[in-house]
Amino acid sequence: MSSDNDYLDGNAAAGELSSIFATDITAAEGQCANCGATKRFAEAHVYMQTPGVVARCAACEHVLLRVVNVRHRIFLDVRGMTFLSFDTSQDRRTVQAAS
Ligand SMILES: [Zn+2]
Repeated sequence: MSSDNDYLDGNAAAGELSSIFATDITAAEGQCANCGATKRFAEAHVYMQTPGVVARCAACEHVLLRVVNVRHRIFLDVRGMTFLSFDTSQDRRTVQAAS
């Protein structure tokens, strides 16, 4: 049984996904493979009560992404998205100058 308030927003998955993605995934845009909605990942509905993390589309509740960490192995399922797009124009990574 679920209620309308049993999920968090996409920012809740940032910690788990930071071990996979080198950039901030919450600012990335993804397209739902079910309804075609394109939204920032931070807008997804994230369910943390499962054995892993499940992100669902904010428009239609289709599963966008699943992450499960089992015995030092991370399983990432992104079949629910047509694409995940990262904006690199604000990339703050810098190369340290040798001193
Ligand atoms: Zn959708």
